[in-house]
Amino acid sequence: MAKRDYYEILGIPRNAEERDIKKAYKRMAMKFHPDRNKEDKKAEEKFKEVKEAYEILTDSQKRAAYDHYGHAAFEQGNMNGSNSQSGSDFSDIFGDVFGDIFGGGHRQRTASGADLRYKMELTLEEAVRGITKEIKIPALVKCELCNGSGAKKDTTPITCPTCHGAGQVQIRQGFFTVQQPCPYCHGHGQIIKNPCNQCHGHGRIEKLKILSVKIPAGVDTDDRIRLSGEGAAGKQGAPAGDLYVQVKVKEHPIFEHQDNNLFCEVPINFVMAALGGEIEVPTLDGRIKLKIPAETQTGKMFRMRGKGIKSVRNNSQGDLICRIVVETPVKLNDKQKYLLRDLEKSFCDSSNVNNSPRSKSFLEGVKKFFDDLTR
Ligand SMILES: [Zn+2]
Ligand SMILES: [Zn+2]
Repeated sequence: MAKRDYYEILGIPRNAEERDIKKAYKRMAMKFHPDRNKEDKKAEEKFKEVKEAYEILTDSQKRAAYDHYGHAAFEQGNMNGSNSQSGSDFSDIFGDVFGDIFGGGHRQRTASGADLRYKMELTLEEAVRGITKEIKIPALVKCELCNGSGAKKDTTPITCPTCHGAGQVQIRQGFFTVQQPCPYCHGHGQIIKNPCNQCHGHGRIEKLKILSVKIPAGVDTDDRIRLSGEGAAGKQGAPAGDLYVQVKVKEHPIFEHQDNNLFCEVPINFVMAALGGEIEVPTLDGRIKLKIPAETQTGKMFRMRGKGIKSVRNNSQGDLICRIVVETPVKLNDKQKYLLRDLEKSFCDSSNVNNSPRSKSFLEGVKKFFDDLTR
């Protein structure tokens, strides 16, 4: 019987991209997979055909040869064809294409437990100074009754007679061999005849675990602290996973922060803004004095070197940046109002001195704008 065209087998055009080849293979292989078509010789033949087509077309060299010479490219003396595929090649394909369908997790006999993540909220002060915190996490821990073996006291699991402890069995299907998890022991390699009363053979139980976590000084949101071996316990005595404590720094009532720098808004009254003076500003270690020069405007920034956060990574020290906001006075009494009106009058009188350069240039700009409009 003449061999069918590989593209035809997979039902794809000749210019199909690798992604499409994989997709088509996945679809066809699902349909004809021997596991789903027990005792169907035709399906098995189809599956082999599909697999062969897939292997050739996803190998750029072989695909080029096939496009050029057709099936002749793989006859004796030419390039290696599908009949010489090694076992490892097969598992590669399965890992790639079948991982998500057949649940890729068959070979978990010695796989360690899952990694866990714990979200920890810290105040800015805690993040800056570092802190040791106790946390409680529900975790799968090793069953101490059976010491993680899953077998009842004074008994031990026995080696699986079917796979002799390998957890895998090899099944020949035509010209290739499939590795499958052992159906008798479900891939564990061992069989527990008398399961432990406490963990029912799993070797682990769920417990609230209390851990003391040391947070180093200078951490920031999204930093992670890894606690090796504090994740979920492994199955039947396998090593535990890790616990990742993920930091989130809470909003601070006074400071904002970005990287190592702290930002703080500092309101001052307009007399101090005009005449200058000295105020106290907060830092994370207490108050410090800040000199306000005369004629300070809203939005002016003052940088206090070294008053920011010390980075946990490179030890570099950030700054505190204070942004000045000039506050308009409220709830004035009659005397204050009188004084202010008097002050205002003095502004108008001193025509040769400009007390409000910004207002002046703004008003001039507005005037020019309307002049230009009406011209
Ligand atoms: Zn077995
Ligand atoms: Zn147990």
